[in-house]
Formats: sequence, structure tokens, C-alpha cells
Amino acid sequence: MKTVVVTGSTSGIGLAIAEAFAEKANNLVLNGFGEGSEINAIVERLRSISKADVFHHPADMTKPKEISDLIDTAVERFGGVDVVVNNAGIQHVERIEDFPIEKWDQIIAINLSSAFHTMRAVIPSMKERKNGRIINIASAHGLVASPFKCAYVAAKHGILGLTKTAALELAEMGITVNAICPGYVLTPLVEKQIRDTAKARGMSEEHVQKEVILKAQPTREFVQASEVAALAIYLAGNEACQVTGTHISIDGGWTAA
Ligand code: NAD
Repeated sequence: MKTVVVTGSTSGIGLAIAEAFAEKANNLVLNGFGEGSEINAIVERLRSISKADVFHHPADMTKPKEISDLIDTAVERFGGVDVVVNNAGIQHVERIEDFPIEKWDQIIAINLSSAFHTMRAVIPSMKERKNGRIINIASAHGLVASPFKCAYVAAKHGILGLTKTAALELAEMGITVNAICPGYVLTPLVEKQIRDTAKARGMSEEHVQKEVILKAQPTREFVQASEVAALAIYLAGNEACQVTGTHISIDGGWTAA
């Protein structure tokens, strides 16, 4: 039985990844914000799927001490962590000259620095066990830019650099480090982005969804969160032991153009 930590797993892609690992009977450490009753319901549901142990740790991904406590608690409770999925993320859409400084700092902290902090905390125990998988949920925006998303695009490009560096440092330790670059997945993060982009560009939300969001993806379809989760399961498996220091795109053809 493996132990899997998924940051930002109370919603969207992180929740789908947690569900997929639960279906494979892994111990799970959930993280992310939400109402207590909603989080308890998720924990109970995943316990019933997984027959393994599931708990929620409330670490705020902007707080390094809380992030190391998340990893330490998982190691203490389960004797080690096999897989860390760095998934927590937020978005803010605004032109650079109006972009609030605190939003820039928050996005860099949650979408980029938190992955450094989980890695820093988990790598010693993964090295001891000569086993580990680190999966960073980047984005098509780790490879290409869009206007009005300066912090997000910078953080996602940054996480690809962090992924490669960590993979090289850990290549002989039985630990792989990879990124997944999804295109648009219709989660609360994107629903908010549709609203914000509509405001920034003076368009209707329907127009943004059709002509801005799905226009980026040649398939003209959203990626499903469960499809991203399936890639995470692959990267966590033995068959992926030689896949390291790279990214896998799942973006409906977006970055082919
Ligand atoms: P979401 O808003 O549905 O979920 C985000 C999760 O992160 C939630 O569980 C939330 O509570 C958690 N979170 C936010 N701030 C946090 C903090 N400070 N500390 C701890 N947890 C925090 O978003 P999503 O669309 O599922 O996005 C998940 C990841 O996937 C993000 O890294 C995002 O950049 C990436 N991504 C999303 C899309 C997309 O189209 N939805 C595309 C590419 C990449």
C-alpha cells in the first residue's frame, strides 16, 4: 500500500487525482480549503472507496512551516510518503500594470514555492527509502503564455524548471520528478477565470468560454479532471520509472500550434 499526498485536493483536479489514487487502495493525505462538513464528507467518501487510511491536513500552501508539517505528519502516520502531487493552485487575471502585488506574491507562493517546500521536506525520507514519485501539476501555461496571467504563467514556467532540477538531483535515488501540463479543465478555478476574463476583456462569459478558452484547444473540448488523474497514476507506477525530468501535456493540442 502506497502513501500519497495531494496538495489542493478538496476541489477540481486535485480531488480527481485523490479519487483515482483512492481507487487503487492507497493511503491518502488530502489538503486544501473548504467548509469542515464538506471536507469531512470527502474524507469519508474516499475512505469508503479506498479501504485505506485517508486524512485531511489543513496546511496553507503559502506557509512553509505548515507545508513541512503536512509532510512530517504524513511520514509519521504512515512511515513514509511514496507520492507527492503538488497540485494546489490559484489564478488571477489582470493586466500587469494593474496586477495587485499581493496577488503576485500569493500566486508565486501557492503555484510555485509550495512545491519547493514539499520537496524540501519529503526528499530526505524518499532518499532513505530509495523510492519516490513527485508529480507537479503545471499547465499549458508552463509552456506558452496568455495575456493578463503574468503571475500564473511565471509560476508555471518556473515549476517546469524546478521539476527538471529536482529530477537531475534525484535521478540515482529511485525518485522521479515530472510535471503534467493540462489545458483547460472546467473546475472552480476556470469558472472564476471565465468570469474575470469576461470583465478584463469586456466580453460575455459565454463568449469567453467559446472564443477565448476553448479557442486555445484545437479539440474545442475541455480536458476532464479524471484524464489528468490517469496520467498521475501512470507517473506514480513502476512502468514510469525511466520517465523523469519531463512534462506530459494533456491540452487538446493547444501547445502543438
Ligand atoms: P480548484 O480551484 O478547483 O482547486 C484548487 C485547490 O487548491 C482547492 O482544493 C483549494 O482549496 C486549494 N488551495 C488554494 N489555495 C490554497 C492554499 N493557500 N493552501 C492549500 N490549498 C489551497 O483548481 P483546479 O482547476 O483543480 O487547479 C488545480 C491545479 O491544476 C492548479 O495548480 C492549476 O494551476 C492547475 N491547472 C488547472 C487547469 C484548469 O483548467 N482547471 C489547467 C492547467 C493547470
